[in-house]
Amino acid sequence: MTTVRQMFALQELDIILDRVQHDQVKAEYELSNGDVLGNLETELERDAEWLVETELQQKATKLEAQTQKDRSESLNSQLYGGEITNPRDLESLEREASNVRQLVEKHETTLSEITERIEEAQNKKSELETKLSEARAAWEIRQAELQTAIKELNKERTGFEGQRSKLTEVLDPTSLQHYEALRKSKGGLAVVKVQRGLCQGCRMSLPTHQQQRVRNGHQTVLCSSCGRMLFSS
Ligand SMILES: [Zn+2]
Repeated sequence: MTTVRQMFALQELDIILDRVQHDQVKAEYELSNGDVLGNLETELERDAEWLVETELQQKATKLEAQTQKDRSESLNSQLYGGEITNPRDLESLEREASNVRQLVEKHETTLSEITERIEEAQNKKSELETKLSEARAAWEIRQAELQTAIKELNKERTGFEGQRSKLTEVLDPTSLQHYEALRKSKGGLAVVKVQRGLCQGCRMSLPTHQQQRVRNGHQTVLCSSCGRMLFSS
């Protein structure tokens, strides 16, 4: 005959097994989802692409600035060379020289802005590279830890499952089914202790005759309030 004491022992094993299984699922989830290296790598790639494009832009702007500077110098030497004396020609030359000077200034401002942005991006890139190599090292350690933990938990689980099947071999199938159904519907607690006349599952006070039947232990007594199997230690 299956006693409530055996059911209680089974439940203690099942609680441990639930915990082991939960820890194992958690560790496995982290092992397959905890890797943040991919995100850092993508960010670094994006920054590197931006740098290449912007450095090209910097080169083009430098060239353009130089062209305008050369033009400005040649206009200046025409202006002050003394070869052009006609006031109207001098005036239009002066206007052109002033336009080109403005262009040179504009290009130089743009160039210094680009250069500043490139420096910032280079700093960020080297920070990211450091972060990535640190994350790589940390992840390697964590991966090894998780693999060890999963192996241990597996071993633990096999051990407890062995104990469980030995225990269930001697239980009658109907009681076992009842126990399984109760555990499922009662938040993992099918068998509860009676302490000071109270069901420890639902905290309801039990009538004296029911408490007596639980103490005798001849048959399975269910709490009249929550339906759990009652156990008196
Ligand atoms: Zn109860």
